[in-house]
Amino acid sequence: MKILIVEDEAKTGDYLKQGLCEAGFVVDLARDGHDGLHLALTGDYDLLVLDVMLPGLDGWQLLQAIRQAGKEALVIFLTAKDEVADRVRGLELGADDYLVKPFAFSELLARIRTLLRRNKPKEAEVLHIADLELDPLRRRVTRSGQRIDLTAKEFVLLELLLRRQDEVLPRSLIASQVWDMNFDSDTNVIEVAIRRLRAKIDDNFEPKLIHTARGMGYVLEVAA
Ligand code: CA
Repeated sequence: MKILIVEDEAKTGDYLKQGLCEAGFVVDLARDGHDGLHLALTGDYDLLVLDVMLPGLDGWQLLQAIRQAGKEALVIFLTAKDEVADRVRGLELGADDYLVKPFAFSELLARIRTLLRRNKPKEAEVLHIADLELDPLRRRVTRSGQRIDLTAKEFVLLELLLRRQDEVLPRSLIASQVWDMNFDSDTNVIEVAIRRLRAKIDDNFEPKLIHTARGMGYVLEVAA
């Protein structure tokens, strides 16, 4: 799942981005209102974390423009102001939640997960193939009932393979979806990640689920 943070305070922005990446989300960070709006309108985000006081456009204007453009991403406002009027204004404009600074990161993460669970039941469904299960919200993977520990990137990679099982996924697509960048030359990164994932979910189990489509990419399937 993809999150956009719009936050002009450099330290806070970096900290939030790192934390949410480690929690397994794909995260972009914009440092002013105009960049934030551009990314929000062009990117496909599940959730936006918006600071209110921003250079360029403020958080309110940003949310208004995003809603006017028909974008339905969930929105959490972050603000130092805790007046009731501000809270009401944010909710009237279509924000889904509101967090007053300073807040604990764990609180933000809990609110994000609650919103995603409430508003995106389809994306929150437990995914499975054969005896492998992945629970996107609880961040749990099991095979044959055994808990499997994955890194954040391995989790995102497996989630992508599961959502598009039986489909050959080109390395370039995996690179853009999992690493959020284009690896034109360095496909080694993907090979290494696939090898590690295989070691965890396939080596000790049958049937094998991750298959290499030579020269094309990878597919998750129960081979005939
Ligand atoms: Ca600010």
